[in-house]
Amino acid sequence: MLTIKHLNKTYANGVHAINNVSLEIPNGLFGLLGPNGAGKSSLMRTIATLQEPDSGSIHFQGMDVLKEKEDLRRQLGYLPQDFGVYPKVSAEDLLTHFAILKGLTQKAQRKEMVESLLRQTNLWEARKRALGSYSGGMRQRFGIAQALLGAPKLVIVDEPTAGLDPDERNRFLNLLAEIGEQVVVILSTHIVEDVTDLCPRMAMIAQGKVLIQGEPQAAIDELKNKVWRKSVSKAALPEYQSKFTVLASRLVGGKPQINVYSESQPDEGFVQVEADLEDVYFLQLRASQASANLTGQAAGAATRASDSAGTSDAATASRAA
Ligand code: ADP
Repeated sequence: MLTIKHLNKTYANGVHAINNVSLEIPNGLFGLLGPNGAGKSSLMRTIATLQEPDSGSIHFQGMDVLKEKEDLRRQLGYLPQDFGVYPKVSAEDLLTHFAILKGLTQKAQRKEMVESLLRQTNLWEARKRALGSYSGGMRQRFGIAQALLGAPKLVIVDEPTAGLDPDERNRFLNLLAEIGEQVVVILSTHIVEDVTDLCPRMAMIAQGKVLIQGEPQAAIDELKNKVWRKSVSKAALPEYQSKFTVLASRLVGGKPQINVYSESQPDEGFVQVEADLEDVYFLQLRASQASANLTGQAAGAATRASDSAGTSDAATASRAA
């Protein structure tokens, strides 16, 4: 179990990137879902002991992470968002190099681990190829192979599926799901399906704050009988958006189809549909933006709100795709 309590971080530019975050993360795959700028990387880097919070605590299996950084690092596998590779080196050579850095000094044992990870990530056939010739998906699988060196008990992967095509994304997510139930795996993402498909538990965050946490299905159940759908004309869309709580809109046959949150039928022509995690996500984001607007925070907050609005559009677009 990873337990985070009242964690705070404000950068020198005034951005409150982690705002009183408390999370309980059990073994298994945990989805950390939030738009760009939500604070996911800041949180991941803090858990990985790469940066200091201003206040709060992090405990992992009884260990005080902020005090016992070296101990944590020995149990940590981390795939950062901007994982770079040496393009001219082969996967096998680089993984062997990382294994040595990780303290796997026994040659036979190291060889065995490198081979088993290359096989697990389906890179064995391509092990002699230079990493520069790898596709995005292969590079991410290599990233996971290096994160799993030394059998870590805490694995953190920061936005690993961004930019992967659906096939590669599936392959990557299946790999994560296989890592094991005795390990804490935190997957940060702005893609709702990553969480829906795989994570028994999750948290949604925006503007540095936890919006909700728990089981995805429990959050979806809260919206039971409250999501309504209608196809509308493009011209009428702004009116619907101002009149109703529009969660998501996607184009179906060139026409916007909107999901609206409402206790009762919002208007003629709306039919009730089963809620999904995307509905939960958009409702949470709307609420968080509304409260940020209400409190009229300083310029920094406004920038972040527009960041998340941009991502909502991107998510909507990906839903349409
Ligand atoms: P996410 O990973 O969810 O996209 P980040 O943690 O990268 O979010 O960023 C959260 C907020 O903190 C953003 O507004 C970002 O611009 C800001 N931020 C991130 N890193 C720094 C930094 N080193 N210095 C100043 N601001 C930062």
